[in-house]
Amino acid sequence: MIINITNNIVLLLAIFLLPFKISAQEKRPVKMESAMTEIWEPAIEVVTPGQANPDGTVSAPSDAIVLFDGTDLSAWTNKDGAAAEWIVHDGVFTVNKGTGDILTKQSFEDFQLHIEWQVPQGISGESQYRGNSGIFLQNKYEIQLLDSYKNTTYINGQAGSIYKQAPPLKNAMAPPGQWNTYDIIYTAPRFKENGSLFSPAKVTVIHNGVVIQNNTQITGHTPNVGLPKYRAHGPGPIKLQDHGDPSAPLSFRNIWIREM
Ligand code: MG
Repeated sequence: MIINITNNIVLLLAIFLLPFKISAQEKRPVKMESAMTEIWEPAIEVVTPGQANPDGTVSAPSDAIVLFDGTDLSAWTNKDGAAAEWIVHDGVFTVNKGTGDILTKQSFEDFQLHIEWQVPQGISGESQYRGNSGIFLQNKYEIQLLDSYKNTTYINGQAGSIYKQAPPLKNAMAPPGQWNTYDIIYTAPRFKENGSLFSPAKVTVIHNGVVIQNNTQITGHTPNVGLPKYRAHGPGPIKLQDHGDPSAPLSFRNIWIREM
């Protein structure tokens, strides 16, 4: 009888203490080794970087889609789908004012875009009427092109702004007659099935090596008059603006894009 009682007490104690034992074992730290945090697969795809050209440009990386390499506008159309009428010369192309905006034939979603642009020497005009053009991401969201070297305008409309939304963080503008580069990293907006916004577009812009937009949220389309709004859409082209201002036209060169 006494033995039975003792056995029962031992059993009860064991049942009572077991969870503490398990818990203590669970908390014992695993001894980490270097290999436990190494990732080996899948291997990272190799991209051959662009090479320096005699004209000071750097060619496109091996996985880029070249949108202009100095020869022709075959990657572009006008807004009606006919051939782009902007003028190719000397390895660059120049806005042909009055012929309308031009768009890439291909549509894009998330991407890295490299584009070089120049305001002509001797540009005249003021504010928005001095070298105005623009790069419309997915045909909707304008990154402003303007002569902002010595030209005052509203700051959310100067070069590098998300037009009428976000001013650039800095003014890194090259003087007229010199080339500017934009490197644009863009994440497209996403929409729910009912058409409402799921996540806004975001953009980083590097102007002549200087970050001027840092993962900035785009709040909708970029009209001249009115407030930005989102309307659900899928992939869209890159559009370059033929702005109606009477100043001398901008030129472009070395345009490529990498889909992400
Ligand atoms: Mg513009």
